[in-house]
Amino acid sequence: MAKVSINLTTGSIQKEDIIVGIDLGTTNSLVAFIDPNGNAKVINDTGKGVLVPSVVHFDANGEVVVGNEARDFLIQDPQHTIFSVKRLLGRSYQDLQSHEAYFSYRIIDDANDESLVKIKVGDTFYTPIELSALILKELKARAEHALKTNVNRAVITVPAYFNDSQRQATRDAGKLAGLDVLRIVNEPTAASLAYGIGLNPDEQKTIAVYDLGGGTFDVSILKIENGIFEVLATNGNTFLGGDDFDRAIVDYWIAQNNLSGEIPMQELRLKAEEAKKALSHQNLFNEKIGDIFCTIDKQTFESLINDKVQETISACKNALKDAELTASDIDEIVMVGGSTRTDLVKKEVSAFFEKPVNDSINPDEVVALGAALQADVLSGNRKDILLLDVTPLSLGIETMGGLMDTIIPRNSKVPTKAGRQYTTSIDGQVNMKIAVYQGERDLVKENRKLAEFELKGIPSMPAGLPKVDINFLLNADGILRIQAVELRSGVKQEVDVKPTYGLKDEEVEQMLLDAVTYAKDDVSQRMVVEAKTEGDQMVYTVERFLNKNGSFLNQEETSHTKELVTKLKVAIKNTNKDEILSAIDALNEYTRPFAERLMDEAVSQAMRGKNI
Ligand code: ADP
Ligand code: MG
Repeated sequence: MAKVSINLTTGSIQKEDIIVGIDLGTTNSLVAFIDPNGNAKVINDTGKGVLVPSVVHFDANGEVVVGNEARDFLIQDPQHTIFSVKRLLGRSYQDLQSHEAYFSYRIIDDANDESLVKIKVGDTFYTPIELSALILKELKARAEHALKTNVNRAVITVPAYFNDSQRQATRDAGKLAGLDVLRIVNEPTAASLAYGIGLNPDEQKTIAVYDLGGGTFDVSILKIENGIFEVLATNGNTFLGGDDFDRAIVDYWIAQNNLSGEIPMQELRLKAEEAKKALSHQNLFNEKIGDIFCTIDKQTFESLINDKVQETISACKNALKDAELTASDIDEIVMVGGSTRTDLVKKEVSAFFEKPVNDSINPDEVVALGAALQADVLSGNRKDILLLDVTPLSLGIETMGGLMDTIIPRNSKVPTKAGRQYTTSIDGQVNMKIAVYQGERDLVKENRKLAEFELKGIPSMPAGLPKVDINFLLNADGILRIQAVELRSGVKQEVDVKPTYGLKDEEVEQMLLDAVTYAKDDVSQRMVVEAKTEGDQMVYTVERFLNKNGSFLNQEETSHTKELVTKLKVAIKNTNKDEILSAIDALNEYTRPFAERLMDEAVSQAMRGKNI
């Protein structure tokens, strides 16, 4: 059945479903679309404003509010009010441990370094994907209300430095919100599109996109050629932004007023943000909260934030260095993010690059507007633009001794394809484990695991004879396809990587049904299951190690290892989490030196020829 939509605001008939562009921000989110005249416009759902604060609040009955209303609860009800969820997308607990104090809500440790964080609100656990989906649902509803049509398709932007897991998580959040995410686009690419840079296929430019938001900063160097956008380098600090400027003002007022004891921090913070914004167009801010003087002049403000601003300039320097360019190679500077309205920021960035900056488009809106343009390209309205990104982290597989073997190096253009040949390390080996990782470290344990699968049915041959080709194919959306084929027998296995910490399609569907209320897991139960799985793996690994490398250990080492394995097996049988984890730990501690000894061996072996 064909549906015809009528846009009631303009009275025009829309040929197809509209595709919107969404900037899912750390602090604020918004939607934009291309109007029937071909102009990019942000959605302003009557009276609600353009920016939707990326905040979600849950009340005692499980009712959810998103946006401005939710932001008000940051003061009254911090434990049930989730902000900055973008920081958690596709992240493991380990990634965030050092920043835990930043969050006022509870982040759950799954006792597994690789597992995704969860957020506990009351008795319910939410994943960052579900929470982001709530924000996206609100944006979708606002767009549908404003455009008087269904909105089912979207382009969503992410920072250029987002890894595959974070991109996949963003995509999953879209799905969960009922959106078909046609493309994940880099924020700097979207911003330059909004300025029309790169729209003309003949132009050749190198640009810098400087993005200073509420709590994050990044700078990207893009090369645009033949309508192709390539990220040459990115740099930044994910814990630096306008919030720091507010905090500097609050601290200053506390000192000026000699405040101590009970300080109305939240009121001061809001007033400070007001002052900061006012000082973007005036020289003095002078108000009071009760009998507290909230006075600050522009010069003082600039001296308070200068260190932070200089930090962003250092990042620009590093980005240029990584791109092997100098400031004079940069043709345009695009300013993105609300905090680039601060004069000192503009002044310093312009001075560093030695030219005026592009700041004519509202910096809060520029990314969403560019995303809408990209959506327009995808809907077939513009055939002249092609978008190209690079992969921010190396992709590779685990080889003997836990070493990382990079197949697609970081900064490779996407789409891309690369491969390598491997062989078996034991006689008669019929299965080969292929574990895919991303990261820059030499040991896979320091990197991030994306997938693991087995190539089964390799004909029994002496070690070193089978030839296994492993090919990586990274598509334009950053989704990785891994192909493994044993050339002598033709045995083949193919896997599309959804990062292990992302969600499976059927899980997403199930979650759609469950709507907002994610299954109320019994976390302690899950932790036992995870501990058991880990224990089983450990037993298997160590027993294999003993079988394979028996001669490697002396008698005493062997018997003590076996003792520890038995203890672990008993603990697993007892399904006692703490017992299992401490047995794993003991076994780990004792056998680690062997693994290292073996790794030295593996290194020298790797120099002779690659084994897996
Ligand atoms: P994000 O991309 O992280 O979601 P935004 O681009 O929406 O963030 O930027 C939000 C930040 O911009 C906040 O810290 C806000 O105080 C700041 N901001 C907004 N308007 C101004 C202004 N006029 N002057 C200075 N800072 C501003
Ligand atoms: Mg932003």
